[in-house]
Amino acid sequence: MAGEPQDDCLFCKIVAGSIPATIVRETETTIAFRDINPQAPTHVLVIPKEHHRDAAALAAAAPQVAADVLRETQAVADEDKLESYRIVFNTGSGAGQTVWHAHAHVLGGRGLEWPPG
Ligand code: AMP
Ligand code: ZN
Repeated sequence: MAGEPQDDCLFCKIVAGSIPATIVRETETTIAFRDINPQAPTHVLVIPKEHHRDAAALAAAAPQVAADVLRETQAVADEDKLESYRIVFNTGSGAGQTVWHAHAHVLGGRGLEWPPG
C-alpha cells in the first residue's frame, strides 16, 4: 500500500532506527539527516517518514506531507544559518536517483553554480 514501510528501503530503515544516521530535525511526518557523502558544507536529506518512490509520487499520494518536507528544508537552512541554498529532488536513475524513497537534498554553505551539472 502507498506509504507503507518497505523492507528493502534504506531510508525506511533510517526512519525505523535500524540504520543509524545523524538526524538534525524530526517532525511527526518527516526526518532530516546529514548525507553520508556530503557535496557541500551543508548537505542534509529531508524525507517523509512514509515511503513513496519519488517526490512526485509523494505529492500525488500525500500532498500535505510533501508540503511538510518543503517546510522542513527551510528549517534546516535556518538552523545552518544559510541565506541561500538549493533543494534537489533527483528523480529517475538518469538524474542520479539511487534511493527510491522520496528525499529532498538541501545543499548550501558554498557557491552553487547555475545551471547545475
Ligand atoms: P539520490 O542519489 O538523489 O537518490 O540521493 C541519495 C543520497 O543518499 C546520496 O546523496 C547518498 O550519499 C545518501 N546516502 C546513502 N546512504 C546513506 C546513509 N546511510 N546515510 C545518509 N545518507 C546516505
Ligand atoms: Zn522507504
